[in-house]
Amino acid sequence: MSDVFQFMKLSRNPGDKIDASVRKIEFKEIYQPLHAVDAADQAGRCLSCGNPYCEWECPVHNYIPNWLKLVEEGRLFEAAELSHQTNSLPEICGRVCPQDRLCEGACTLNQGGFGAVSIGSIEKYITDEAFKAGWRPDMSKVVWTDKTVGVIGAGPAGLACADVLARNGVKAVVYDRYEEIGGLLTFGIPEFKLEKDIVRRRREILEGMGVEFVLNTEVGKDISIDKLLKKHDAIFMGMGAYRYMRGNFSGEDSPGVLEALPYLINNVRQSLGTLPQGEAAISMRGKRVVVLGGGDTAMDCNRTAIRQGAKRVICAYRRDEANMPGSKREVGNAREEGVEFLWNRQPVSIEPMIGGTLAVKLAETRLGEPDAKGRRNAETVPGSEEIVECDHVIIAFGFQAEAAPWSEQLGITTASNGRTQAAPHSMYKYQTSNPKVFAGGDMVRGADLVVRAVFDGRQAAEGVLGYLGVW
Ligand code: FAD
Ligand code: SF4
Repeated sequence: MSDVFQFMKLSRNPGDKIDASVRKIEFKEIYQPLHAVDAADQAGRCLSCGNPYCEWECPVHNYIPNWLKLVEEGRLFEAAELSHQTNSLPEICGRVCPQDRLCEGACTLNQGGFGAVSIGSIEKYITDEAFKAGWRPDMSKVVWTDKTVGVIGAGPAGLACADVLARNGVKAVVYDRYEEIGGLLTFGIPEFKLEKDIVRRRREILEGMGVEFVLNTEVGKDISIDKLLKKHDAIFMGMGAYRYMRGNFSGEDSPGVLEALPYLINNVRQSLGTLPQGEAAISMRGKRVVVLGGGDTAMDCNRTAIRQGAKRVICAYRRDEANMPGSKREVGNAREEGVEFLWNRQPVSIEPMIGGTLAVKLAETRLGEPDAKGRRNAETVPGSEEIVECDHVIIAFGFQAEAAPWSEQLGITTASNGRTQAAPHSMYKYQTSNPKVFAGGDMVRGADLVVRAVFDGRQAAEGVLGYLGVW
């Protein structure tokens, strides 16, 4: 019987963090894994609230208190089984979810000032350790049907959809234009948040479950959508949101100004050794760098530049720290690693200077009245401009969704903001206006979170199963 007052006797421990002086020179995950005893002790801090707010705030509604209890009792395989009932990528969400805004933010202990249960670290612990000990999803009772589904995109939405389809006897064939699976998990999120071996291991697990991957294959270019429609009984599109958002100020296209995602992908490919022939490695070694933006992508660029040996990294964001969209934990990590923040700064222009450097003009902002959504917009303060000189600017203003190239041809409705319309509450969940085509993740929501893409992929798989008459 656990001690109900454990939360008072034992403080929160999400796992040791490697010291900033060490971690800022390496591309490795910064949080150390929990040991079995610590995981059990930390799990024992859970109050098992009658109405667990953590579960409600978790986008996939994980059975959190239940698997915490199993960890406390050392029942690892049962915990892994339960964790996979609601989440297709628990070890990944445990690493990259902004828990402070989701499950842990809602934890009763957090509300009470005792420090939330380390839910993310324990979720990661369960799957990592269960895999190490030989646990695998139990497919022994699966009765395979003759149905197949073409999944376009091997990001979290596509992987989650394939996972649920396979568990229900439907063959999923996942097509991706990249050489590895994962979407932004591989070609976006850097290794210091998620090491790529974790994604590769998930590929092995999914392949072991009967999921097939067709990589280096862009649908619409290397294989036509018509061919896919003929070959498969249904299609799921989880193609992400990649339309780069511009700042619309002068000098944005100057030499030395980089877009965030190509910069991050270039860095990942340098580590993986898969940089395409003819593409030069980008390095910030010895450079002064200004990163514009305040989301997760901006934090990843800041911290990548630091690890590449930048002389100085300044991050400028138009709102204050409290109103920034990125995870607070990642801002804290960036600050510890040496990133300097300029809050309430709006870029006005970038001017190339003699000698190849750049002059970034920033104006101070103040927060205006809340808009219709309650978000306070930044207004510039007249006469407050300042110049920051640097060698490179990285622009990280985010991404928007855009219609699939074949949307019009297939009668798939797209909203004016580029998001594919797929109805979560229709008879067949996440079906588009073309009955045979389903969609989810960033291409439906706009740029969002891994865990929400996982939710969509799982829900869409249920929609597909209903449409195919398997359920
Ligand atoms: P994606 O992950 O974008 O996957 C889409 C896949 O579709 C890609 O692999 C793409 O190659 C493929 N594709 C597209 N078109 C085609 C085609 N025609 N043919 C074949 N394949 C195609 N979220 C978090 O929760 N935590 C974080 O810390 C975090 N950090 C982030 C850092 C960065 C730099 C970025 C950019 C995003 C981050 N996110 C984070 C957001 C998160 O990565 C996305 O919300 C999530 O990956 C969306 O999943 P998805 O499956 O919808 O799309
Ligand atoms: Fe928390 Fe994300 Fe895990 Fe849900 S999936 S319990 S939000 S870390």
